[in-house]
Amino acid sequence: MPDSHYGVIIVGGGIVGLAVALEITHRFPHLTLLLLEKEDRLGRHQSSHNSGVIHSGIYYKPESLKAKLCVAGAAAMVEFCREHSIPHSNCGKVIVATSPEELQPLEELRRRGEANGVPGVRLVGSAELRDLEPNAAGLEALVVPSTSITDYAAVCDKYAELTAARGGTILTSAEVISIKRGADEIIVETRRGAFSADYFINCAGLFSDRISRMAGDEPEVMIAPFRGEYYDLIPERSSLVRALIYPVPDPRFPFLGVHFTRRISGRVDAGPNAVLALRREGYGRTDFNLTDLASSLAFPGFWRMAAKHWRSGLDEVHRSFSKTAFVHDLQQLVPEVREGDLVPGGSGVRAQALKRDGTLVDDFQFVQSGKMLHVLNVPSPAATASLLIGRAIVDMASRNIGLAA
Ligand SMILES: Cc1cc2nc3c(=O)[nH]c(=O)nc-3n(C[C@H](O)[C@H](O)[C@H](O)COP(=O)(O)OP(=O)(O)OC[C@H]3O[C@@H](n4cnc5c(N)ncnc54)[C@H](O)[C@@H]3O)c2cc1C
Repeated sequence: MPDSHYGVIIVGGGIVGLAVALEITHRFPHLTLLLLEKEDRLGRHQSSHNSGVIHSGIYYKPESLKAKLCVAGAAAMVEFCREHSIPHSNCGKVIVATSPEELQPLEELRRRGEANGVPGVRLVGSAELRDLEPNAAGLEALVVPSTSITDYAAVCDKYAELTAARGGTILTSAEVISIKRGADEIIVETRRGAFSADYFINCAGLFSDRISRMAGDEPEVMIAPFRGEYYDLIPERSSLVRALIYPVPDPRFPFLGVHFTRRISGRVDAGPNAVLALRREGYGRTDFNLTDLASSLAFPGFWRMAAKHWRSGLDEVHRSFSKTAFVHDLQQLVPEVREGDLVPGGSGVRAQALKRDGTLVDDFQFVQSGKMLHVLNVPSPAATASLLIGRAIVDMASRNIGLAA
């Protein structure tokens, strides 16, 4: 028998689940809400292991959800940080073309930025690049003034505080272990008891495909975990970078390439790379989990992706184990940087949905099933766009699964 009944249950206390909770308690103040998180604190995974960048929206295909929700989401995130005194800084960024082959893709990015309504984007030559970032080298660069930085762990804490103040219940150390669909309610069993609800929203990040399957659905995608490792610039050399210096991304992948990021704390780091992890929450190079590995190997899309991208995958593994190779890539952007300037930093694991045909899902993906909604692909820039993603999910839930007060 469930311990108590709620209007809606959300699984996952990362920035997306918390943003959905915030929006529901705002729009439907009379609906009872329970958010379940397996860890003993919120935002413990992707939402606190990221680059802390409020992305401008320049990278994404015009009209995609990523483009629409990121551009508006960035403005909303800056406003949210300002309103709630969360540290943030509008430092801007440069995207640098370091070879003639990158000039055309750089121009393509400029057009995308214009089409997506990203304000103030402009192309500059190497001299003006040096005025902005004296140690960056490149043939041309795109200046993106609307890019900012913040601390997303602090944003998560504020979303949780506001949700609780509006009457939402948040339960940590409450891993969901089974989900049953009854005749007119959904029963969710956790390590801290069983609960029932009329509606259910799955925001479980790296485990969202498993939660979808646990609920009796077939997600059609597998969450592929891509670990990203960072190096920190030693404080004496952090003046090599004023703000954010990015390469021109490889259009075959949804990742941005290793870059330099000045954090809101003032520290500068370099990364993240993108290595297929052998464990979904595996933050160390040698972390391994048999269930995670076996589920990857059993998914047909995994082998199709491996057949297509094995060479770049091996390069990433090489760069993960070889600091020299990592630094070599960074020197394309900032030639002055030396191996001795960098010490190992943190890491994060991205939840990236992979299709059966071996392609990586490019856009955000939310899938409805009866009175459930599964959030199956919310990689970067989902932290930036979280307030808008929350609104989009609640719109979809009220339209399609009948979520109402
Ligand atoms: C290395 C890296 C760099 C990034 N840089 C940026 C950036 O600069 N800017 C940006 O906008 N985005 C960035 N991102 C992306 C952004 O961090 C993510 O898109 C966002 O945090 C996703 O939030 P989430 O809530 O979906 O996932 P998560 O934060 O992973 O939250 C999911 C939650 O579900 C919980 N959960 C899972 N299973 C269960 C269960 N069975 N029961 C209960 N709870 C469960 C987990 O414990 C977790 O807390 C980056 C990501 C990474 C990894």
